[in-house]
Amino acid sequence: MLFKTLSKPEFRNLVDLLLGSTEVIAPKQIGVNNDGKPLHHYLPVQEFEEIDLEYEITEYSAKSYFLPFRENLSSCRFEDDDWTQEIHYRLQPRVLMGLHSCDINALLKLDKVLAGDRFPSPYFISRRRNTFIIGIDHYPCEGGFCQSVGADVVTHGFDLYLTDLGDRYFVAINSDHGYNVLMQVDAKDTTGQDNKDYLEARQRIASKFEPLNMHNLPNLMDIEFESEVWKRWGKKCLSCGSCTMVCPTCYCYGVDERVSMDGREGAKVKQLYSCNLLDFAAVAGGHNFRADRETRLKYRYYHQHRGFMETYEEPLCVGCNRCGRVCLAGINPPEIIRDLQTEDQV
Ligand code: SF4
Ligand code: SF4
Repeated sequence: MLFKTLSKPEFRNLVDLLLGSTEVIAPKQIGVNNDGKPLHHYLPVQEFEEIDLEYEITEYSAKSYFLPFRENLSSCRFEDDDWTQEIHYRLQPRVLMGLHSCDINALLKLDKVLAGDRFPSPYFISRRRNTFIIGIDHYPCEGGFCQSVGADVVTHGFDLYLTDLGDRYFVAINSDHGYNVLMQVDAKDTTGQDNKDYLEARQRIASKFEPLNMHNLPNLMDIEFESEVWKRWGKKCLSCGSCTMVCPTCYCYGVDERVSMDGREGAKVKQLYSCNLLDFAAVAGGHNFRADRETRLKYRYYHQHRGFMETYEEPLCVGCNRCGRVCLAGINPPEIIRDLQTEDQV
């Protein structure tokens, strides 16, 4: 990895350059919650002042810029005994700025599924390839457990990654494109003092996490498959699906085929779906493989911490706790995992 430093005024120059040449999406405050705490989303910005890099967490993840809630996979038109089909991929470049390490790690996990060898999605890949990513270090957010799932640091999956050193940023460069963009402003070579300050900043951040014990979780989950824990938490679940919508790594979807009333036009429409919704596992003939709430909730956790682990040797979850923040029933991964760990203790 190549490192440089960038003074705060030079960083602003860099952002102004990007704003003048391409679409920029960045964390932006959109209001406050009932406790007066600021709420943020990743949104398109036009001016440097709109960007808030001090944000704690965005309510939605950056997933929506790569896996939109709804997208047209193809459109077709029938005319004179013939038909034409149109498929659009994203080709316009854009910058996605201010991603925390967990959200970058989430994109890397989605890459494994949607840009890997088995089921590559050209729609997802075109968005990934045309998005320049600038990440930034931050202190742990409330309820987050990214360190416990190894998602608090990131070594690839970005173009530039910033660590705030007070009067300057320590910048990790991870692509040719990142290097070329950075060279448009006055980035400095790192000194011994910069390296020392960076390592101390990282230590400070690492020391603020409260560890969540994830030891042997896949095996524990297999042993606790029929546990009362799932019944207790399942009873609370409202089957609203909000947890999966905000999750940066949930990618389940359905595809509808729509045809206009006159039969001349049609479209294949992909829409994200949630494994917590009542009809997620309903099949033709009326049978529902996951008719009760506890089973649906359980399988979501098994996918995140057990099934994905088996295939990719890492959990799907990046520990952001967005699902816990959004859940009106108070269901959250740290409490469920602790419950599983203490369930059979005497
Ligand atoms: S766990 Fe919470 S957010 Fe998810 S479906 Fe159940 S009630 Fe909704
Ligand atoms: S399951 Fe919850 S904590 Fe894990 S990545 Fe998804 S939203 Fe974040």
